[in-house]
Amino acid sequence: MQYISTRGQAPAISFEDAMMSGLAPDGGLYVPSEVPQLSADDIRAMAGQSYEEIAFRVIRPFVGPEFSDDDLQGCIARAYAGFGHSAKAPVKQLAPNHFLLELFHGPTLAFKDFAMQLIGQLFQLSLSRSGKRVTIVGATSGDTGSAAIEAFRGLSNVDVCILFPHGRVSEVQRRQMTTPSEANVHALAVEGTFDDCQARLKDMFNDFAFREEVGLAGVNSINWARVVAQVVYYFTSATALGAPDREVSFCVPTGNFGDIFAGYIAQQMGLPIKQLIVATNRNDVMHRALTTGSYTTGVVAPTVSPSMDILVSSNFERALFDAYGRDGDAVAKDMEALKNGGGFQISQGALEGLQSTFVSGRCDEEQTLGEIKRMLEETGELLCPHTAVGTHVAREFLGDTPVITLSTAHPAKFPDAVEKASGMHPPLPNRMGDLYDREERVTRVENDLAALTQLIKERRGA
Ligand SMILES: *Cc1c(COP(=O)(O)O)cnc(C)c1O
Repeated sequence: MQYISTRGQAPAISFEDAMMSGLAPDGGLYVPSEVPQLSADDIRAMAGQSYEEIAFRVIRPFVGPEFSDDDLQGCIARAYAGFGHSAKAPVKQLAPNHFLLELFHGPTLAFKDFAMQLIGQLFQLSLSRSGKRVTIVGATSGDTGSAAIEAFRGLSNVDVCILFPHGRVSEVQRRQMTTPSEANVHALAVEGTFDDCQARLKDMFNDFAFREEVGLAGVNSINWARVVAQVVYYFTSATALGAPDREVSFCVPTGNFGDIFAGYIAQQMGLPIKQLIVATNRNDVMHRALTTGSYTTGVVAPTVSPSMDILVSSNFERALFDAYGRDGDAVAKDMEALKNGGGFQISQGALEGLQSTFVSGRCDEEQTLGEIKRMLEETGELLCPHTAVGTHVAREFLGDTPVITLSTAHPAKFPDAVEKASGMHPPLPNRMGDLYDREERVTRVENDLAALTQLIKERRGA
């Protein structure tokens, strides 16, 4: 299996190299040269299998010979051993033909753990063979950083440095990043916004001397290995509801388009998915793009679902690449226009192609809080604000086909919004009950590239 760039100007590489490099040198994203197929019988055979068994069947064809069957099975087993639910991703019914896929039973209570835990194990194996040492640097508005720290803490050959905007993450999110005591974990509170953190991260990747010196690696949501890990729960949940003999749709609270793109890959592999419903909050760039064909950014508005406060949904580039018949030049042209002018127009043919799978809806702030209250009353389920955006939008699409809404985080990760909406304070699960008692370790740093690179050079390998 080879990986090619969505901008068509980079050489094809292996799964392992795509995982280690993240972004392609032409600025594009890696996609498999062809999507492996599973037959209806392969999918039928998944009924009743464990999460780990299904994960192996789904992921195996994407991973080259660099990882043997035993390697991959071992990584999968270790990745999901610490989850707080034996099904890993249980499905619950909310209403007739409406189901909830709970993706918050991992160590940091958000779906990011599914991909990050596995990528941690794969990195560890790869680095132990090559003898290389890498420095993973990430920027986060909360969930990605905590998931990355949790996945890489204590691993040899890796330092993990996370930039987060000082004072702008929830207390639970901050504590998840600052309380791990392992020496290879470095939580850096930047004097700035999330956009500043992301801009400094980009600067670091463009500083080739620094990049080389510290062995810079990225694990943000455009990393192909993260996408592939997320394909698995589309299969586990759809087969639990009768796939391949019954079609299902999925509704996905969307920010960077990574999670929903994994659903698209599941469909391409042969899983009968009727529709993929993109649910956005009031930062509705993707909803507007999919309904009008015009992709225009603007100014991000803060919401109670902060992990979806994103204007440039990076992984959408992968869907666009397919919609343009895998024409890398066409994608590169749009991305250039987005960078320079803040927008582009999806061609009519490509838009129709996208609309045959992707539909969308938006949910504003008031509706999000109303939805949390409504779901508590109607189902007894206390939802996180991101998930509430999902169920609100999903309700517009309920009909003959079952809709599975992805529950992307535990309500206890966003206690203030949940309490405001429902009057109930969501308690942390028992297994993390001591989060508020653990000692915090964090370094404040100014929003300055030189200060950051200096700090990272000093800290790594310490
Ligand atoms: C990251 C995140 C999302 C958005 O997922 P994308 O893959 O970026 O579209 C939604 N909800 C929560 C809780 C998240 O952490």
